[in-house]
Amino acid sequence: MIPESVKIVEVGPRDGLQNESRILPVAERIRLIENLAEAGLKQIEAGSFVRPDLLPQMSDTDQVLAGLNLDSGIGYPVLVPNMRGLDNALAAGAREIAVFAAASETFSQKNINCGINESIRRFAEVTKPAIDQGLSVRGYISCVLGCPYEGFISPEQVAAVARYLEDIGCYEISLGDTIGIGTPIATGKLIDSITSHIPVDRLAVHFHDTYGQALANILTALQAGISVVDSSVAGLGGCPYARGASGNVATEDVVFMLDGMGIHHGVDLVMLIATGQSICTVLDRPVMSKVNVARSPVYFEV
Ligand code: MG
Repeated sequence: MIPESVKIVEVGPRDGLQNESRILPVAERIRLIENLAEAGLKQIEAGSFVRPDLLPQMSDTDQVLAGLNLDSGIGYPVLVPNMRGLDNALAAGAREIAVFAAASETFSQKNINCGINESIRRFAEVTKPAIDQGLSVRGYISCVLGCPYEGFISPEQVAAVARYLEDIGCYEISLGDTIGIGTPIATGKLIDSITSHIPVDRLAVHFHDTYGQALANILTALQAGISVVDSSVAGLGGCPYARGASGNVATEDVVFMLDGMGIHHGVDLVMLIATGQSICTVLDRPVMSKVNVARSPVYFEV
């Protein structure tokens, strides 16, 4: 049942950088994306078309796209929250967008100021014209294994949101464990619940390593037949709900595990490690990847 190959969706330049306190200039963001592409990643989130006063880390995403070769065959999805974001994404030449909903009513209210049903209705207004104009749309669901406000979230609730996102045209739905509290058996139950409604090849997983559970959960997802995994180089992003803790699972750690399992992914681990080191130097923060630290060329004499 374990897939022979896995597609890694690199989220560092968007989900990662938007949660870093240091704001990078456009040239550094382009350099990061180019390094990730050279390392072999084929799907790299490039930015977000949100209001720059709300998220200055993602300002000038149009200039980031302008600096990339959008015809290279590499996907550079951008996050779009509303029609204005879609208009800006289209003007910048984006080919793929992502929208995101929450599986928790309270999280949805606090994060985007509306409930789940209203958020889906608003996203439908964005996805329809986007699809009509030839874009592909990926859907994210946050809080799939727990919510910082509500705690437990039922798999049925997540499955309902996933079906909404499929209905409005999302080609792939990424299941996000936003606070990283999921464990393997809960992950297995969640995926079972969703795959009774949606084919497994339409699903991706987006785990956070806040409690050290990400690789165990990813393994569970692979065993359930999921073959798309989101991750962030050097674990960029941190965790907005636990200061100083890990957030997105590090791409280096995912790649190392897949290598050990003989699963094809197309990413060069050495180049990826160098990219992680380089971006963490620029951001002046530690590398949040066990594999990167273990393979670091810097040795300390004791
Ligand atoms: Mg994330």
